[in-house]
Amino acid sequence: MSDNFINGEVSFWVHAEGRPKQRPGLPGNIEADVAIVGAGLTGLWTAYYLKEARPDLNVVVIEREFAGFGASGRNGGWMSAKSPGQFRRYAKSGGRDAAIAMEHEMFAAVREGVAVAKAEGFGEHVVQDGLIHVATNNAQWDRLQGTIASLKDHGWGPEDYEVLSPAMLDERVRVADVRGAYWSPHCARINPAEFTFGLAAAVERRGVTIYEGTTATAIVPRRVETNRGVVSAKYVVQAIEGYTLSLKGQSRRFLPMNSSMVVTEQLTDAQMDEIGWHGAELMGDVAHNFAYIQHTADNRIALGGRGVPYNFASSFDRSGRTAEAAIEQLGNRLIELFPALDGVKLEHSWSGVLGVPRDWCAGVNFDPATGIADAGGYVGHGVTGTNVAGRTIRDLILGEKTDLTRLPWVGHTSRNWEVEPLRWTAATALYAVYRFADREEYRTGTSKTHVSAKLANLISGR
Ligand SMILES: Cc1cc2nc3c(=O)[nH]c(=O)nc-3n(C[C@H](O)[C@H](O)[C@H](O)COP(=O)(O)OP(=O)(O)OC[C@H]3O[C@@H](n4cnc5c(N)ncnc54)[C@H](O)[C@@H]3O)c2cc1C
Repeated sequence: MSDNFINGEVSFWVHAEGRPKQRPGLPGNIEADVAIVGAGLTGLWTAYYLKEARPDLNVVVIEREFAGFGASGRNGGWMSAKSPGQFRRYAKSGGRDAAIAMEHEMFAAVREGVAVAKAEGFGEHVVQDGLIHVATNNAQWDRLQGTIASLKDHGWGPEDYEVLSPAMLDERVRVADVRGAYWSPHCARINPAEFTFGLAAAVERRGVTIYEGTTATAIVPRRVETNRGVVSAKYVVQAIEGYTLSLKGQSRRFLPMNSSMVVTEQLTDAQMDEIGWHGAELMGDVAHNFAYIQHTADNRIALGGRGVPYNFASSFDRSGRTAEAAIEQLGNRLIELFPALDGVKLEHSWSGVLGVPRDWCAGVNFDPATGIADAGGYVGHGVTGTNVAGRTIRDLILGEKTDLTRLPWVGHTSRNWEVEPLRWTAATALYAVYRFADREEYRTGTSKTHVSAKLANLISGR
């Protein structure tokens, strides 16, 4: 670790970018056409597209801390087309064609996110070089081949992915012990703080007011109650994903899952040459406790994973302070994947929460009777999902029936999570099982997924 190692402080991205000046809080009771709670990407995209479609609407955003404080300012920067839910479940509820349409909306949303960032002036470091999934043992390779086989079935054509042999992967990035990989062009690298701060500014330029330091205490039909006054609005949008449990009656809706990250010091050209990662592809492995990795615009490697996935009674450190054990785990994984980086110092670690519904499928909901809309539960794939959600909520509020409002996650809800201590016991045990299964798959060299992980998937619904 570097001498100036930072643990928490929201995220490396927010720390490095520097927080914009705090915006004023709600001045008391006000009226608006649309009140959005949460200034993460869900809330901001919703505001952006509503104002694009209807500049005359009075849209306000209520944010407890500051825009980008949540997962949107802390994530791994994969703006990927990975679906925020399970294909088979969306196909079951909405039909196969609808599940395929969802995949294609995700492809388009990556392009859309890149285009908006460039057009609005916050896309300097947004690069669409795609996403690489690597298998670093035989069981991972077996799973990855299964995934590759299913892509075709999900409507992916040859232009949507390319299978890479270890030698082909070596030309893009040198990862230890690779059995095989695949690359897909449908992913862009973002700096999450730069992106979210940029989107917040773009939204403000369109006339939206973001009230920071203002906590919503209740969301009820046509009204948001806060610690600083009441916003009366025709429509209310709940966009607080991992923090949903703080609202009355919603404590078991999403499991607030921790995800933790570390970032290295800036690498030298020689170190970059050693690992051969010169592009801006995002990368992930296929372990049960998988790692997600970014080569940052300033030549660092940022790596994330589950760390300590869930705290008792859904508690978490708001500033993102990360357990020593998780930092060590992530640091070790970095060196396992890139042995050439042994000795490189870590500069920052942080954690955040993402929302996981009981069936691992995100949903977008709107009730015209109450005027309340919400979106979330993106299971760790919210960066692009929030863009699709924002445009979908726009259409639902404006009463337009579009391809977006027909997607299978519209109106999708999941049953509640179990009560404590069952929830904590189950989540902790499941992730211990996943770690055990990963160790066994490496130790034995088996090409079959360990039976304990299969069982854990069955129980968790993952
Ligand atoms: C460490 C980490 C890595 C991730 N990596 C990726 C990735 O690489 N790719 C990907 O696709 N997804 C990733 N995700 C998930 C993704 O970041 C989220 O799904 C997405 O950002 C959710 O956006 P959101 O706007 O719904 O929620 P958030 O960004 O969490 O925003 C919610 C906002 O609501 C505010 N809030 C909460 N309660 C209240 C209240 N009562 N009143 C007012 N405001 C309130 C919060 O302060 C916060 O600013 C990651 C998540 C984490 C934590």
